[in-house]
Amino acid sequence: MKEDYYEILGLSKSATKPEIKKAYRKKAIEFHPDKNPGDSNAEESFKKAAEAYEILSNDDKRAKYDRFGHQAFDGGFGGGGGGGMNMDDIFSQFGDIFGGGGGGFSGFGGFGGGGGQRRVKGSNLRIRVSLTLEEIANGAEKKIKVKRKVQAEGTTYKTCSTCSGTGQVTRITNTILGRMQTASPCTVCGGAGQTIDKKPAEADAHGLISQEETVTIKIPAGVEDGMQLKVSNKGNEAPGNGIPGDLLVAIEEKAHPTLQREGDNLHYDLYISYSEAVLGASREIDTVSGKVRIKIDEGVQSGKILRLRGKGISNINGYGKGDLLVHVNVWTPKVLNKEQKEFFEKMATDENFQPNPEKSDKSFFEKVKDMFS
Ligand SMILES: [Zn+2]
Repeated sequence: MKEDYYEILGLSKSATKPEIKKAYRKKAIEFHPDKNPGDSNAEESFKKAAEAYEILSNDDKRAKYDRFGHQAFDGGFGGGGGGGMNMDDIFSQFGDIFGGGGGGFSGFGGFGGGGGQRRVKGSNLRIRVSLTLEEIANGAEKKIKVKRKVQAEGTTYKTCSTCSGTGQVTRITNTILGRMQTASPCTVCGGAGQTIDKKPAEADAHGLISQEETVTIKIPAGVEDGMQLKVSNKGNEAPGNGIPGDLLVAIEEKAHPTLQREGDNLHYDLYISYSEAVLGASREIDTVSGKVRIKIDEGVQSGKILRLRGKGISNINGYGKGDLLVHVNVWTPKVLNKEQKEFFEKMATDENFQPNPEKSDKSFFEKVKDMFS
């Protein structure tokens, strides 16, 4: 049985956000690995608290957890359950909690979980992926060339003789408080517990070589500029029995020539002629899934917003699709010939040309209000 997230942080089910943050901060400080070197129970508690905070600090995840318990996160998108957080995840969470960089362990990217024994983790790699609005709307699969460090063929490792494979050295010192035992990562093997036995000449001191690899990255629909996706284990490999780091993919959104994004909704500025506004029209507009023909009713007012439901961007959390909002702009001719000028002068006093807004012709501000409701 997995422990209850509220119990882990010592909270009641009705805890507020600041209470959750405070409780987590307390636990994180209490069980921080820097304060409890070599204490695997403390590390376990540290990870449990981080996982509990990860869920309870997020409104969506908390709601799911309240309804379905731990089952809500077993194997689902985004993970979070099953001890899925590694130390890197936890420290990256700290920016939020402690208001600054958390810092990892020295040497490699940190230590990953796995059966209680610490394993050195390779460093993370970062790349940027530039996506069109169409790719963002529908999700995409990108093949990206990445240069990563991998264990060189022919490299063999042996148990580190300095730390006997534990990756740590302990020291006993006498202090006024009595004998104190301190543990620190082994400097000979960098905490890996292993050292190089044999390696090919082209490999670096850790037995690694750089290699170009094509990585397939699945990008879910609805990502946003600045978001970061993680492809587990596609960062640099670690020496020996270490685990590879992750590939962190920063999302960039390319500007679209005609569509503007606002969250999951899209906006399109449609310009129609004076005649089209008066007589009605049929026009083709861009959407993220190809062109679509729309009908403009005769007598349309400038500023009208047509809402094409479900023609926006898929929500990243699976809450359906946004809409495409088509803004109708009537283009007023700037140059008129004599005949046209006479026509409009005649119409200046015509009853049909006098503005006479009805209730259904909402003002601009009312329309904006509707759009966000
Ligand atoms: Zn060692």
